[in-house]
Amino acid sequence: MRPECLYPLFAPVSALPGLGPRLAPLVEKITGAHVVDLLWHLPVGLVDRRFMPTLDQAPAGRVVTLKVHVDRHMAPGGARRPYRVVCTDGTGILTLVFFHAKGDWLEKTLPAGSERVVSGVAERFNDDLQMTHPDHIVPVDRLDEVMTVEAVYPLTAGLPGKVMVKAVRAALERAPDLPEWDDPEFLRRRGWPSWREALGTVHAPQRDSDLIPATTARSRLAYDELLANQLALGLVRAQMRKLSGRVIAGDGRLRRRILDSLPFRLTEAQLRSLAEIDADLEAPLRMLRLLQGDVGSGKTVVALLAMATAVESGCQAALMAPTEILARQHLATLQGPAEAAGIRLGLLTGRDKGKAREKILADLASGGIDILIGTHALFQEGVVFRDLAFAVIDEQHRFGVHQRLDLAAKGQAVDMLVMTATPIPRTLMLTAYGDMDVSRLDGKPPGRKPIATRVLPLARLDDVVEGVRRAIAGGAKVYWICPLVEESEKVDLAAAADRHAELVERLGPRVGLVHGKMKGAEKDRAMAAFAGTDLDLLVATTVIEVGVNVPEATVMVIEHAERFGLAQLHQLRGRIGRGDRASSCLLLYGGPLSENGKARLNILRESEDGFLIAEEDLRLRGAGELLGTRQSGLPEFRMADLTSHSDLLAIARDDARLILETDPELQGPRGQALRTLLYLFERDGVVKTLRSG
Ligand code: ADP
Ligand code: MG
Repeated sequence: MRPECLYPLFAPVSALPGLGPRLAPLVEKITGAHVVDLLWHLPVGLVDRRFMPTLDQAPAGRVVTLKVHVDRHMAPGGARRPYRVVCTDGTGILTLVFFHAKGDWLEKTLPAGSERVVSGVAERFNDDLQMTHPDHIVPVDRLDEVMTVEAVYPLTAGLPGKVMVKAVRAALERAPDLPEWDDPEFLRRRGWPSWREALGTVHAPQRDSDLIPATTARSRLAYDELLANQLALGLVRAQMRKLSGRVIAGDGRLRRRILDSLPFRLTEAQLRSLAEIDADLEAPLRMLRLLQGDVGSGKTVVALLAMATAVESGCQAALMAPTEILARQHLATLQGPAEAAGIRLGLLTGRDKGKAREKILADLASGGIDILIGTHALFQEGVVFRDLAFAVIDEQHRFGVHQRLDLAAKGQAVDMLVMTATPIPRTLMLTAYGDMDVSRLDGKPPGRKPIATRVLPLARLDDVVEGVRRAIAGGAKVYWICPLVEESEKVDLAAAADRHAELVERLGPRVGLVHGKMKGAEKDRAMAAFAGTDLDLLVATTVIEVGVNVPEATVMVIEHAERFGLAQLHQLRGRIGRGDRASSCLLLYGGPLSENGKARLNILRESEDGFLIAEEDLRLRGAGELLGTRQSGLPEFRMADLTSHSDLLAIARDDARLILETDPELQGPRGQALRTLLYLFERDGVVKTLRSG
């Protein structure tokens, strides 16, 4: 259960004074639903109101605080004219200007004859000093409240900055003193303040240099978050380790036959990864390994050989793909080698219903299927294996880390191999997987030709279409990718359909279309027609899934390449260059491209190394945008900025490791404080796995 000291922070934002039914939803929209989310809402700028000149000295165009005598009100002559209040200070005249103002409110706030402090941006018209809609108007005895440096927060439409400042201040007042979870010696060496002090500091910037990620206060909070992240991952892992695994050892007979049936020899990287997987399978521990390899690096055959070992030892294996198309593709590629070895494959997807499904389930329960391939339908209720020992999850990031944890939590005594084609930079890798064992397939299978990549403006579309026509005449197969922006799927689909119609008109009927709104069977038909001999060109939204394999495809056109993440472009491009023929990729960009945008696309032109591309993308875009964090299943950080705090991540990993070695159940005084930290950053799912303390 959440510690009581945190209750005030997990109250809804509407519990804060000043946030009624109109404003609370706006705050919630930009920060999150709870009071604690306001603490994590960091200022992005500041306004210094400490400058208080006399009226004759007040410069135009900057924020000033002015002490004035209210002289008289000038109600507007017409509906569209502003309301004016004339003030003086003995050195000059200041006119306050209000549009759409309520006269009675102004009479109350600025009574004629009173002394007031106003703060805002002053402007000069001829010799007149003017201030339109001052940010603050207070009686003179409240001067101190105004003469400060004010934090500026990210806002959303309709939410005044003042409201946000007040809301954050109220949230800070609710922040309790929490037991220190960091090592005091470590804090001293770094010169880091306590948690509460750090919060106070980050929300009260005094100068621009207080707004950068490297300040002691921001570093401390970032570290807290990273430590919570690493600790949570460490706990999950420790939990899984405690679950005993089984010893899976094969005699190599099926594997031998598979290898004999392949038209190629395994690469060094494949052999190495396979040896690492074998060692895990043989150990009596629960296996959790990530097989990371660029698109086309040959993960599938490694998975098959590993699954064969499970089958050799008399058990079953499962291969889960994120989509229907990919599941079918896996079946198609594995069928040949599996048959050669006498391994029986089955396929189960959400599309299988009724009799067909029952038959599969019966075969599965009786052991008539050795390896079941499918989508997440594999892990639905009612799917019962005779003896599942080994599961391979393909393209992990599409499922998200949570699903992996859910699966683990189901407690099936299953060794798990997770395959990902996303070249996740090392930094992000650590945040998503912690210390998970990793095998890497670096490099591509031999014989691949490099892909020639060019960057062109969309304005050259006509030339591109002619080029494509020539390529097709020369026997090429062409992918034509239209972007899909989540916000307006309809519009995007229409754009893809229009492009399809246009290309049919210009290139003839051997042009197909596949998009995400199509029914499964329809999609399969289009893909099959393209893989076969019926289509030369396939217009696709990004549904051409990671992993789809049409080795004859050698040309790819990507429209509005600037709208994609680099990692995604790299993945898409990986669909071509799979055979032994030279391939080319055309990145078409719309509109004028920024320097940064150009630099990004040029990285792709210059490199085919997914890991390098991912690191560069991280550098140019920041972690948040890298993969579209939401789809990627990578954790989102509030305080930590992985481009600037990556050194802290490594320290947090080591710290978490040490903590869990010395106090695996988080029982000691520091352990108890760390539990609070986990709750604070909402990583509390894992605390449930601990004994209460
Ligand atoms: P990934 O899933 O890693 O993107 P695949 O497993 O689909 O890659 O492999 C891509 C292609 O490379 C497949 O056609 C596969 O048969 C082929 N392949 C795999 N390993 C080798 C190898 N060692 N030598 C040559 N071709 C290979
Ligand atoms: Mg694959």
